[in-house]
Amino acid sequence: MDVQLIQRLDNRLDQLVNLDMGERGIEPLFKAAVEQQGGSLVGAAAEALLAVPQNGQVLLTTGSVSRAWITPALGENDGPSGAAAIARALVKARNALCIMMCEASLIPAIQNTLQSAGLFPLTLEQAQIAQADASLASVVMLPYPTDDESGQQKVQKILEELQPDLLFSTERVGRNEHGVYHSMRGIDYGMGRARIDYLFEEGLRQGIPVVAVGDGGNEIGMGKVAAQVRQAIPYGDLCQCGCGGGIGAVTSCDVLVTAACSNWGCTAIVAAMAARTGQADLLHTPEREALLLDTMVANGLINSTHGIVDDSVDGFPRASHVAMAELCRTIVAKAL
Ligand SMILES: [Zn+2]
Repeated sequence: MDVQLIQRLDNRLDQLVNLDMGERGIEPLFKAAVEQQGGSLVGAAAEALLAVPQNGQVLLTTGSVSRAWITPALGENDGPSGAAAIARALVKARNALCIMMCEASLIPAIQNTLQSAGLFPLTLEQAQIAQADASLASVVMLPYPTDDESGQQKVQKILEELQPDLLFSTERVGRNEHGVYHSMRGIDYGMGRARIDYLFEEGLRQGIPVVAVGDGGNEIGMGKVAAQVRQAIPYGDLCQCGCGGGIGAVTSCDVLVTAACSNWGCTAIVAAMAARTGQADLLHTPEREALLLDTMVANGLINSTHGIVDDSVDGFPRASHVAMAELCRTIVAKAL
């Protein structure tokens, strides 16, 4: 592996996915994270994911209940396809047992998205059999409590039982310093939302590696760049809900990956994994992205910017997500 080539590719991936096409103020967060982590964000994330031991276990989360005040069954389409690309790459590269935790209400849609990425849903016991003989690419879906009390009580039990080698979060809203979960518009939309940020905080405290992807400042991991979220993000200093805080999540991480759209951050991470291993089959391809976009529409995941079920994500049209997969593949082609 040509280390200098890999660094150049990492930096191009970082720059590509942090072009602030949505005008959200992501660039100052990106710069701060690069400064704090001392190098490429997607490169550091790829290395953390590839450091998962062969036959290891990874606990992942994604999913955002998009209009919680209407129904907890409605999730958004930024998050699931990116998480699916990451889980697939972990299975391919490390034969990892991937456990996806989210709200019970979002399990059907997220499970079907993961299945479109090649991962068959199994129970934990079944997935252990599948992992032992590496005979089936699979994923385990588990619900996480949506109230503060059980969300905190469950943490130790889950970490002890599952013994994860790594925690991964993408587009998963975390609470602010007043315990409120905010939308990008600064509204409290914590109702029906999994309190899994408590688990990530305890994992971090115990020294389990935590990799987090976000695009808005209100996600798990953004505690790392809290000062920049307050300065650069709308409602970063003061929300509209009256809690007295901003929308920034307090939960930090080991490796933060910022992106203009969280799914793009995940696409870039798996490209950086492919560059390091020379395994082209880790890439998130344009063809698979198109399939996942169709699956997410069929499962009612919402384009949250426009408030409609369609194949735009975060308001960016379908072609931009397909192109992002193609561009990430093009960037790392020289290493494959
Ligand atoms: Zn508030």
